[in-house]
Amino acid sequence: SMLTIWHSNMEVEQSYIMIKPDGVQRGLVGEIISRFEKKGFLLKGLKLFQCSKDLAQEHYKDLKDKPFFPTLIEYITSGPVVCMAWEGDGVVASARKLIGATNPLQAEPGTIRGDLAVQTGRNVVHGSDSPDNGKREIALWFKEGELCQWESVQTPWLVE
Ligand code: UDP
Ligand code: MG
Repeated sequence: SMLTIWHSNMEVEQSYIMIKPDGVQRGLVGEIISRFEKKGFLLKGLKLFQCSKDLAQEHYKDLKDKPFFPTLIEYITSGPVVCMAWEGDGVVASARKLIGATNPLQAEPGTIRGDLAVQTGRNVVHGSDSPDNGKREIALWFKEGELCQWESVQTPWLVE
Protein backbone atom coordinates (compact mmCIF):
# COMPACT_ATOMS: atom_id res chain seq x y z
CA SER A 1 0.00 0.00 0.00
CA MET A 2 0.96 3.65 -0.25
CA LEU A 3 1.26 3.65 3.51
CA THR A 4 3.82 0.86 3.42
CA ILE A 5 5.80 2.67 0.75
CA TRP A 6 5.57 5.95 2.63
CA HIS A 7 6.60 4.29 5.85
CA SER A 8 9.50 2.33 4.39
CA ASN A 9 13.24 2.83 4.50
CA MET A 10 15.13 5.09 6.87
CA GLU A 11 13.72 3.98 10.21
CA VAL A 12 13.50 0.29 9.37
CA GLU A 13 16.31 -1.78 10.84
CA GLN A 14 19.10 -2.79 8.49
CA SER A 15 21.99 -5.22 8.81
CA TYR A 16 25.25 -5.28 6.92
CA ILE A 17 25.80 -8.83 5.71
CA MET A 18 28.98 -9.73 3.87
CA ILE A 19 30.00 -12.94 2.14
CA LYS A 20 33.70 -13.22 2.93
CA PRO A 21 36.36 -14.17 0.33
CA ASP A 22 36.14 -17.90 1.17
CA GLY A 23 32.38 -17.86 0.56
CA VAL A 24 32.94 -16.26 -2.85
CA GLN A 25 35.80 -18.64 -3.76
CA ARG A 26 33.81 -21.69 -2.67
CA GLY A 27 30.83 -20.78 -4.83
CA LEU A 28 28.49 -20.17 -1.90
CA VAL A 29 27.23 -16.73 -2.96
CA GLY A 30 23.86 -17.93 -4.27
CA GLU A 31 23.31 -20.29 -1.35
CA ILE A 32 24.00 -17.60 1.25
CA ILE A 33 21.92 -14.89 -0.43
CA SER A 34 19.11 -17.42 -0.78
CA ARG A 35 18.84 -17.94 2.96
CA PHE A 36 18.16 -14.25 3.59
CA GLU A 37 15.80 -14.00 0.61
CA LYS A 38 13.80 -17.05 1.66
CA LYS A 39 13.56 -15.85 5.25
CA GLY A 40 11.76 -12.77 4.00
CA PHE A 41 14.15 -9.89 4.51
CA LEU A 42 14.43 -7.15 1.91
CA LEU A 43 17.62 -6.67 -0.09
CA LYS A 44 18.49 -2.98 -0.29
CA GLY A 45 22.09 -3.12 -1.47
CA LEU A 46 24.35 -5.69 -3.18
CA LYS A 47 27.79 -5.60 -4.77
CA LEU A 48 30.91 -7.67 -5.42
CA PHE A 49 33.81 -5.69 -4.04
CA GLN A 50 37.55 -5.96 -3.41
CA CYS A 51 38.18 -4.01 -0.23
CA SER A 52 41.28 -2.12 0.86
CA LYS A 53 43.26 -2.86 3.99
CA ASP A 54 42.13 0.50 5.42
CA LEU A 55 38.46 -0.34 4.98
CA ALA A 56 38.89 -3.81 6.50
CA GLN A 57 40.71 -2.28 9.49
CA GLU A 58 38.00 0.33 9.98
CA HIS A 59 35.26 -2.30 9.74
CA TYR A 60 36.94 -4.48 12.38
CA LYS A 61 38.41 -1.62 14.47
CA ASP A 62 36.91 -3.00 17.72
CA LEU A 63 39.13 -6.08 17.28
CA LYS A 64 42.38 -4.23 16.53
CA ASP A 65 44.10 -5.40 19.73
CA LYS A 66 43.24 -9.08 19.22
CA PRO A 67 46.07 -11.44 18.28
CA PHE A 68 44.15 -12.61 15.19
CA PHE A 69 43.62 -9.06 13.85
CA PRO A 70 46.43 -9.11 11.23
CA THR A 71 45.37 -12.49 9.82
CA LEU A 72 41.72 -11.37 9.88
CA ILE A 73 42.60 -8.31 7.76
CA GLU A 74 44.65 -10.50 5.41
CA TYR A 75 41.69 -12.90 5.06
CA ILE A 76 39.08 -10.21 4.40
CA THR A 77 41.25 -8.48 1.79
CA SER A 78 42.38 -11.74 0.12
CA GLY A 79 39.71 -11.62 -2.61
CA PRO A 80 36.37 -10.12 -3.50
CA VAL A 81 33.57 -10.05 -0.95
CA VAL A 82 29.82 -9.65 -1.49
CA CYS A 83 28.46 -6.62 0.37
CA MET A 84 24.78 -6.58 1.23
CA ALA A 85 22.31 -4.41 3.09
CA TRP A 86 19.28 -6.37 4.31
CA GLU A 87 16.26 -4.71 5.86
CA GLY A 88 13.39 -5.74 8.11
CA ASP A 89 12.15 -5.56 11.67
CA GLY A 90 14.57 -7.50 13.85
CA VAL A 91 16.91 -8.24 10.92
CA VAL A 92 20.13 -7.74 12.93
CA ALA A 93 19.46 -10.38 15.60
CA SER A 94 17.69 -12.70 13.19
CA ALA A 95 20.58 -12.58 10.70
CA ARG A 96 23.00 -13.45 13.51
CA LYS A 97 20.85 -16.54 14.20
CA LEU A 98 20.75 -17.49 10.53
CA ILE A 99 24.54 -17.07 10.38
CA GLY A 100 25.29 -19.07 13.54
CA ALA A 101 28.12 -19.00 16.09
CA THR A 102 31.48 -17.42 15.22
CA ASN A 103 33.17 -20.84 15.45
CA PRO A 104 31.51 -22.97 12.73
CA LEU A 105 32.14 -26.14 14.73
CA GLN A 106 29.92 -24.70 17.45
CA ALA A 107 27.35 -23.28 15.03
CA GLU A 108 24.09 -25.22 14.95
CA PRO A 109 23.23 -27.29 11.89
CA GLY A 110 20.78 -25.29 9.83
CA THR A 111 22.80 -22.10 10.24
CA ILE A 112 25.03 -20.85 7.44
CA ARG A 113 28.26 -21.43 9.36
CA GLY A 114 26.92 -24.66 10.89
CA ASP A 115 26.17 -26.07 7.45
CA LEU A 116 28.94 -24.60 5.32
CA ALA A 117 32.14 -24.00 7.32
CA VAL A 118 34.58 -25.62 9.76
CA GLN A 119 36.92 -22.88 11.06
CA THR A 120 36.54 -19.49 12.79
CA GLY A 121 39.16 -18.02 10.47
CA ARG A 122 37.15 -19.16 7.40
CA ASN A 123 33.58 -18.66 8.53
CA VAL A 124 32.18 -17.46 5.18
CA VAL A 125 29.94 -14.62 6.29
CA HIS A 126 29.71 -11.48 8.42
CA GLY A 127 26.63 -9.99 10.09
CA SER A 128 26.31 -6.78 12.10
CA ASP A 129 26.01 -7.31 15.86
CA SER A 130 23.68 -4.37 16.64
CA PRO A 131 21.34 -2.02 14.75
CA ASP A 132 23.80 0.83 15.37
CA ASN A 133 26.64 -1.20 13.89
CA GLY A 134 24.33 -2.13 11.01
CA LYS A 135 24.02 1.58 10.19
CA ARG A 136 27.72 2.21 10.71
CA GLU A 137 28.82 -0.70 8.53
CA ILE A 138 26.36 0.01 5.70
CA ALA A 139 27.59 3.63 5.63
CA LEU A 140 31.17 2.34 5.59
CA TRP A 141 30.78 -0.20 2.76
CA PHE A 142 28.23 1.54 0.52
CA LYS A 143 28.42 4.91 -1.17
CA GLU A 144 25.50 7.28 -1.52
CA GLY A 145 23.24 6.04 -4.31
CA GLU A 146 24.32 2.41 -4.07
CA LEU A 147 21.32 1.40 -1.98
CA CYS A 148 17.95 0.98 -3.72
CA GLN A 149 14.68 2.16 -2.28
CA TRP A 150 12.06 -0.35 -3.33
CA GLU A 151 9.24 -2.46 -1.99
CA SER A 152 8.86 -6.16 -2.67
CA VAL A 153 5.51 -7.51 -3.89
CA GLN A 154 5.99 -10.17 -1.20
CA THR A 155 5.84 -7.69 1.68
CA PRO A 156 2.05 -7.87 2.24
CA TRP A 157 2.38 -11.68 2.33
CA LEU A 158 5.20 -11.50 4.88
CA VAL A 159 3.97 -8.84 7.29
CA GLU A 160 0.36 -8.20 8.29
N1 UDP B 1 37.98 -14.31 14.24
C1 UDP B 1 39.13 -15.08 14.17
N2 UDP B 1 39.59 -15.69 15.33
C2 UDP B 1 38.94 -15.55 16.52
C3 UDP B 1 37.79 -14.75 16.58
C4 UDP B 1 37.33 -14.14 15.41
O1 UDP B 1 39.73 -15.23 13.11
O2 UDP B 1 39.39 -16.12 17.52
C5 UDP B 1 37.49 -13.67 13.00
C6 UDP B 1 36.29 -14.40 12.41
O3 UDP B 1 36.38 -14.31 10.98
C7 UDP B 1 35.12 -13.60 12.92
C8 UDP B 1 35.70 -12.19 12.87
O4 UDP B 1 37.06 -12.35 13.28
O5 UDP B 1 33.96 -13.77 12.13
C9 UDP B 1 35.03 -11.17 13.76
O6 UDP B 1 34.99 -11.66 15.07
P1 UDP B 1 33.66 -11.51 15.95
O7 UDP B 1 34.00 -11.89 17.34
O8 UDP B 1 33.08 -10.16 15.72
O9 UDP B 1 32.72 -12.67 15.34
P2 UDP B 1 31.39 -12.57 14.45
O10 UDP B 1 30.65 -11.33 14.85
O11 UDP B 1 31.82 -12.53 13.00
O12 UDP B 1 30.64 -13.84 14.74
MG1 MG C 1 31.31 -9.35 15.00
